[in-house]
Amino acid sequence: MARYTGAVCRQCRREGLKLYLKGERCYTEKCSIDRRAYAPGQHGQRRRKASEYGIQLREKQKARRIYGVLEGQFRRYFQEADRRKGITGENLLQILESRLDNIVYRMGFALSRPEARQLVKHGHFAVNGKKVTIPSYQVRPGDEIAVRETSRNKGRFKELAELTQNQGTMEWLEVDRENLSGKVIRLPNRDEIDIPIAEHLIVELYSR
Ligand code: SF4
Repeated sequence: MARYTGAVCRQCRREGLKLYLKGERCYTEKCSIDRRAYAPGQHGQRRRKASEYGIQLREKQKARRIYGVLEGQFRRYFQEADRRKGITGENLLQILESRLDNIVYRMGFALSRPEARQLVKHGHFAVNGKKVTIPSYQVRPGDEIAVRETSRNKGRFKELAELTQNQGTMEWLEVDRENLSGKVIRLPNRDEIDIPIAEHLIVELYSR
């Protein structure tokens, strides 16, 4: 499937927000948005009043870019969220948070969602003991995620262990950093999802 292959920092500048797509670099002064805090392109520094549709669209694009999801899949997630009981916007965020690449990132086994996606695709993770290479795999409460035995000695995981040793763990996840494994206790509540998204705008956009 086609994916965005351009400069990822442009996406942050477009949204006017750090999306943390580049791992370590995002936490240094090299971060592009700190150096050029305006939208990319020839007209990036122009001031424009956004329409209601424009605001809703930006919110959806922001969510897509944070989680690295293409348009078609994002729409399918919305349809699934709409089918489920409860608040559609919150359901949508829970579905996005349940993606395997996101869980790997949340557990601290990758420094960004794009890195988590790549590590999953390269077969470094197992869910309930079985190798899974699909970043969009939906993880459920009770599932155990672990770096596979054959990947444990990889240099990157040793580096990551050092870089994330002081990182806190989310209450809905259980992480065993020494054994490079973790468990999803439950799905997160809205106030446990720390992304700056007004999900009701996405619901409004798809309800037009
Ligand atoms: Fe975004 Fe990270 Fe690039 Fe900064 S360094 S603009 S946070 S991807």
